[in-house]
Amino acid sequence: MRATLIESLGLGAIGAAIATGFAGAADQVIQVGPEFVFAAALVGGANGLVAGWRRTYAWRCSDGVIAFVLDSSWALLTTSAGLFANGVAALQRDPGYLAELSERQNHQVFRRGFMPRSGYAITLGNVIGGVGDTNSVRRRKLVTDHEAVHVWQARWFGPAYVGLYAGWTLVGAAAGVVWWLLRRRSVPLIQVVETTAYYLNPFEWWAYSRHGHWPPSGKVADMGWRRPCCRPLAEVRGSRLEPAGPVAR
Ligand SMILES: [Zn+2]
Repeated sequence: MRATLIESLGLGAIGAAIATGFAGAADQVIQVGPEFVFAAALVGGANGLVAGWRRTYAWRCSDGVIAFVLDSSWALLTTSAGLFANGVAALQRDPGYLAELSERQNHQVFRRGFMPRSGYAITLGNVIGGVGDTNSVRRRKLVTDHEAVHVWQARWFGPAYVGLYAGWTLVGAAAGVVWWLLRRRSVPLIQVVETTAYYLNPFEWWAYSRHGHWPPSGKVADMGWRRPCCRPLAEVRGSRLEPAGPVAR
């Protein structure tokens, strides 16, 4: 309890300091203004307090440090979206926070929380909502092998993640309508648009491939990327466990 309080207050202060430094540097280059620097400090501080209290970051490996520093700087925009998701969860009577899938995992997971579409998990910053029944292995793997991939995409791509993801969704939807009009009348419009706007989004292609689910069943089979973009995480983990060389007798 005491260690948790110290971690929370400590990360709150350090998060606010990193955010202030980052936003201050951004102000020097592109004149974002003192309000932006102040808002950044608030978001960095609040994220540190909440994530520290929940023992979110995995300090035992470098991933935890990288995650915290990125969340408090380059990825502040999606971190603020994560705070919004945390706010929605805080207003629910039983958001179903899942400590066993969150502590030292570099993200926070809710059975309910922010979930605009029932039955679908959604990731905002470092917060994953709408996970549902985590007694099933399938739902747990959805968190560790798909949604967690989005958490890191947002960290690495920062503000560009928001622009690229939203931009692809809009342009993809428009392209889907045109594609349907010109050559896909045999398939329902909604399925063609979901394929072009959602499944073919490179961030989703990446996450579904890591999850070992490419091509996903909802995608129109012969549209877009046919093969996974990268190896499934389950396979990567499996090969790490194998002996590196011949075993000595
Ligand atoms: Zn996804």
